[in-house]
Amino acid sequence: MNYDIIIVGGGASGLFAAIAALKQNKRVLVIEKMKQCGLKLRITGKGRANITNVSELDEFLTHCGSDYRFLYPIFNTFFTQDTIDIFLELGLETKIERGGRVFPKSDKSIDVFFAIIRFLERNEKCTIIKNCEVKSVICENGCSTGINTNVGQFFAHSIILAAGGMSYPLTGSNGDGLRICKALGLQCTECFPVLVGLFTENIITTEAYRLRKKESGDTFLIKNMLVTVTNKNGKKLTQTIGEVQFTNYGIAGAAILKISRQIAQRIAAKEDLRVILDLKQDVNFAIMRITGTEGWDRAVITQGGVSLLEVKPKTLETKKIKRLYLCGELLDLDADTGGYNLQIAFSTGWVAGTNAALAANVHNAEI
Ligand SMILES: Cc1cc2nc3c(=O)[nH]c(=O)nc-3n(C[C@H](O)[C@H](O)[C@H](O)COP(=O)(O)OP(=O)(O)OC[C@H]3O[C@@H](n4cnc5c(N)ncnc54)[C@H](O)[C@@H]3O)c2cc1C
Repeated sequence: MNYDIIIVGGGASGLFAAIAALKQNKRVLVIEKMKQCGLKLRITGKGRANITNVSELDEFLTHCGSDYRFLYPIFNTFFTQDTIDIFLELGLETKIERGGRVFPKSDKSIDVFFAIIRFLERNEKCTIIKNCEVKSVICENGCSTGINTNVGQFFAHSIILAAGGMSYPLTGSNGDGLRICKALGLQCTECFPVLVGLFTENIITTEAYRLRKKESGDTFLIKNMLVTVTNKNGKKLTQTIGEVQFTNYGIAGAAILKISRQIAQRIAAKEDLRVILDLKQDVNFAIMRITGTEGWDRAVITQGGVSLLEVKPKTLETKKIKRLYLCGELLDLDADTGGYNLQIAFSTGWVAGTNAALAANVHNAEI
């Protein structure tokens, strides 16, 4: 066995799992399906990579959905300041912007990727194999021992699955991780594309909207809009304030992406939903019916994934299969825009990498 740990997926969570395991002096193999690692990481934050958010833990967790309690032990181990410190150690300076959002000082997401990959490529205990697709996990007597890929088998003491969700499949995360987990008998919740623009129809517009459209064309952005989603009887389902972008297919922008997380399941169930956009208290800008979302190709993240009941929250080892760890968007975790999702990927990656390494210590001592 040449490796202590195999990591499936060279995205944000897998690369952080690799750093954590290398810090424990372990031999690490990262397997990435695409020609390059970190394709999604490189396009985050509109090319600027909003890597985390320095809001206090309790405030941070309000952006992480109803399963936020699961994240307590993980964030107690590795949180925002740890992310900033690791990047500084890797040579990347960061800055804090409006709303506590943290970016690289250079404003370039590619620098975030380079900082990580430089560290991994210089470490002689780290091997990265690209263009290699993992098909399944090999298990013996309830323990994961290796993986099957399109170029053969690899074995290690522990396996970390960090293959992402289903959003932006062109970056490599096309649901393979979920298929691999289902084949192992792990329960997965239904998945929905979220943080995504909404298709709308039946726009009943005001004069103000018509004037703005005439001035600006099909696409224009309005700040500080009050966005309310109701059912067909007018019952309020959710509300937020923020930017709304009017497009030729419907509506997008920060406020709409946030709303899309809260109504994803209702949209998938084809409920009759209405959205009311208010510029001022009594000026309804437009009332529209929601007909769908831009879908997986444009969704920033996946809502749903491997059920959190399948993993131990302190270590992220699966309960059913020993020495198999899960991290990142593959898990049923999702958050608002603002740096929260990358922090979840970094933190879960770090916890999985550290614990897989600690388990390998015990194993190596035994043999
Ligand atoms: C356009 C866009 C912008 C975003 N901007 C931000 C932002 O600014 N801030 C923020 O917090 N979040 C942002 N996100 C979300 C964030 O990028 C994700 O939450 C994060 O990348 C998830 O990390 P991950 O490692 O779980 O998955 P991924 O980054 O998707 O990595 C999974 C990796 O696994 C590989 N893989 C998949 N299947 C296999 C297989 N069978 N064999 C081998 N390898 C495999 C994939 O190729 C991929 O490299 C953005 C997302 C998008 C799409």
